[in-house]
This record gives sequence, structure tokens and C-alpha cells, in this order.
Amino acid sequence: MFIKPRPFKLHTTCACQWCGKRGKRTLCFKLIDGPVQIWFCNDEHALDWLDNRHHSVAVNKFLRLGPVEKARVLKGQNVASYVESLKDRAAQDV
Ligand SMILES: [Zn+2]
Repeated sequence: MFIKPRPFKLHTTCACQWCGKRGKRTLCFKLIDGPVQIWFCNDEHALDWLDNRHHSVAVNKFLRLGPVEKARVLKGQNVASYVESLKDRAAQDV
């Protein structure tokens, strides 16, 4: 029995978990959270993400989206202002 060798591609790009911007991994900021590696454009985006990830379910749900879904939800809006609007909505519900 032979296992056919499969061609594989090294992952050389990543998408920022905060803003969804794509870039080369060597130029990205890597945050290691236990077994998980999370990529960001820079340390500022990583800190923004860390500050907001546990704010509310809506914010957490949005931040977990992939870059394509995120762009669809944002519709050209700034990530920071969108997250602020989600927080405002959560504050009004309480
Ligand atoms: Zn970013």
C-alpha cells in the first residue's frame, strides 16, 4: 500500500483578526493564545482585539468572522466604529 504524496503549499499569508486585512506572515504580528495562533497587522490591532473580544456576545461573534464575512458585515465601515456601535446597542439592551 502506498500513500500518494500530496502537493502542499506553505501558508505564507494571513488575515488580521481585527480588521481582516491580508498580508505576508513574516510582516504580521502573531499572538499566541495557548495552542492558537492569532494574526494581526500590528500590535495596536492585537490590543484592540484583546480589549473588545469579551465585551459582549455580539462583539465576540463579529470578531470571530472570517475576513470575507467581516467585509460583508462592515460594508466599508471602520472596524473600531462598528465595534463601538455594537457596544452601544448592547448597553441600550440592558
Ligand atoms: Zn489589522
